[in-house]
Amino acid sequence: MESLPIVTSSTKSPAKPSAIRSLEDAVSRCQMLGMRLSRQRRYILELLWTDQEHLSARSIYDRLNQQGKEIGHTSVYQNLEALSDQGIIECIDRADGRLYGNISEAHSHVNCLDTQQILDVNVEIPIEILQKIEAETGIKITEYRIDFYGHRQVPVDR
Ligand SMILES: [Zn+2]
Repeated sequence: MESLPIVTSSTKSPAKPSAIRSLEDAVSRCQMLGMRLSRQRRYILELLWTDQEHLSARSIYDRLNQQGKEIGHTSVYQNLEALSDQGIIECIDRADGRLYGNISEAHSHVNCLDTQQILDVNVEIPIEILQKIEAETGIKITEYRIDFYGHRQVPVDR
């Protein structure tokens, strides 16, 4: 008699679309989702991937128009909403408004308290710490985002 391999709990998560790591990935994700890739939508994605900052809708509008790329306020807002709803771009809710970034997968932020700038960082928490949190809460952790806060270090003169 043949014995079937015993499958304990699967470590595979349900088919998750692969991470978006470039402008091309973002464009192909739009196409995959059947989102229309208008000229305006492309402008926004290009800007986010070129500037690699977390920007408000207002500054996205300003920068595009400074570059001579015509796009209206409403179009900027609507496109940002659509792109973040689909998980193609990052959307951060802050007390002073929303900011948008190019990286949609889970990552951590370093918040500069002097400039209000947000820098993306990838931090890996040691597995023992994750296991401890899981044991304490009974929740299997699948992703995490850490917010660091601090002041710019004054460059040291040598
Ligand atoms: Zn970010």
